[in-house]
Amino acid sequence: MYLKSLTLRGFKSFASATTLAFEPGITAIVGPNGSGKSNVVDALAWVMGEQGAKSLRGGKMEDVIFAGTTGRAPLGRAEVSLTIDNSDGVLPIDYTEVTISRTLFRAGGSEYAINGHSCRLLDVQELLSDTGMGREMHVIVGQGQLDQILQATPEIRRGFVEEAAGVLKHRRRKEKALRKLDTTQANLARLTDLIAEIR
Ligand code: ATP
Repeated sequence: MYLKSLTLRGFKSFASATTLAFEPGITAIVGPNGSGKSNVVDALAWVMGEQGAKSLRGGKMEDVIFAGTTGRAPLGRAEVSLTIDNSDGVLPIDYTEVTISRTLFRAGGSEYAINGHSCRLLDVQELLSDTGMGREMHVIVGQGQLDQILQATPEIRRGFVEEAAGVLKHRRRKEKALRKLDTTQANLARLTDLIAEIR
């Protein structure tokens, strides 16, 4: 599995559609200060479901939409598509190539799609969760983040490892199942009381 290409349209400084094609192995993005290198990394995190505007270096999510320049009007939507080569079947989906897309409208509302089919954020998260590219984005190490990891408490550090190893998904599912079990048990107790009253 490797990232094949990333297309940005209306995302931060990328007003026009721009596609970056990647090869297997290491890719380096070079350019002058302020040319948009970090915006490419932000786009990667965003299309994989990042929900925190601060993680994307903005104040609110709308800040990812091209805000306009002196020569160009602001745009009404940001779109990013990430194509992943899945010929080794690491992603649990029956396609050798998978394209994940995310769109945000300035007027409100957002959309996710997998291979052109509209889906929920949860579907994108589930698709990626066993790859280590999960919800917490530990595959993207930002400037200054290494220090944060080194200074984290052992519990928080364990969370990083669990996310990368794909364990966190099962922990979250277990917690959800336990909450459901609690509700069901409370319903059952109430039902038993009602039956006792009717008798
Ligand atoms: P450095 O090397 O200094 O870290 P960089 O190449 O990583 O720089 P970025 O931080 O990716 O640069 O890009 C910053 C540029 O993106 C700034 O010029 C900023 O104005 C522009 N930018 C950010 N958000 C938007 C937006 N919503 N609309 C238009 N331009 C934006």
